[in-house]
Amino acid sequence: MAERTLAIIKPDAVAKHAIGDITRRYEAAGLYPVGMRMMQLSKACAEGFYAVHRERPFFNDLTTYMSSGPVVVLTLEGSDAVKKNRDLMGATDPKKADAGTIRADHGASIEANAVHGSDSVENAQIEIRYFFAESELP
Ligand code: ADP
Ligand code: MG
Repeated sequence: MAERTLAIIKPDAVAKHAIGDITRRYEAAGLYPVGMRMMQLSKACAEGFYAVHRERPFFNDLTTYMSSGPVVVLTLEGSDAVKKNRDLMGATDPKKADAGTIRADHGASIEANAVHGSDSVENAQIEIRYFFAESELP
């Protein structure tokens, strides 16, 4: 059954001109963009998005980093989209990510790790709605 997930191509990956490669990987894996927008997040927007991590020691650095340059936010659709995207991304720390994953190939550090992906179907719905109005998606 088709499922949707939210992905973000983070500032480090946009800066190294990896938008095309990462988007190609999504499509090759059967994760098809149904919503896609390049934007610069404000600090407040990044804080709202990562609100679950509010108490973490890295929260301020993370939200400063996420608002440091343009990102690409995508709603991806495909079968088992949430898990498929997590597998494609690899572990949070690029040094620990499996070879061939997006983070292993493009991530610079545990913070600047190239991509975001929703971690559950429930969170995917919340995250998609954070960036895309109902009227913007098919
Ligand atoms: P994931 O993105 O793999 O779901 P988390 O939800 O745990 O990972 O963390 C959200 C984001 O916060 C990570 O993608 C990364 O950019 C950043 N982050 C996570 N852990 C750390 C850490 N120990 N130090 C700095 N940044 C971190
Ligand atoms: Mg997460």
